[in-house]
Amino acid sequence: MMDPSAPKVLTHCPLCQASYQERGVRLLGESTGMTLYHLHCSACRHSVLAMIVENPHGIRSVGLVTDMEAQDAIRFQDLDPVSADDCVRMHLALDGQSREMCRRLLQR
Ligand SMILES: [Zn+2]
Repeated sequence: MMDPSAPKVLTHCPLCQASYQERGVRLLGESTGMTLYHLHCSACRHSVLAMIVENPHGIRSVGLVTDMEAQDAIRFQDLDPVSADDCVRMHLALDGQSREMCRRLLQR
C-alpha cells in the first residue's frame, strides 16, 4: 500500500480526482531527496509524472501530465540514467519555467 502520508499527487489523479490503483503507481527513480513516479489513472487513462522533493522545509510535489507510458518512461531512463544533476536541473526548470511549460503544453 501507499504510504498514507504520501502527497496527494501520488494517491489521486489531478485531472479527474479518482484514486489511483496500486498497480498504476510506479517508482521510476530516486536520488537524494527526490523521487520520480509514473502514475496511470485507470479512470481517465491519463498518465502523470510526479516528482516528490523533500527538503528541510517539507515535501513538495510536482506533477506533469505526460503521454509517456510507464514502459516508455523506464526505457527512456535506461538509455540515459537520471543523475542527481538532471534532477536538480529538472527541479530548477520546473521551478523557474513552469509557467512557460504549462503554456506550451496547453498550446499542443
Ligand atoms: Zn484520472
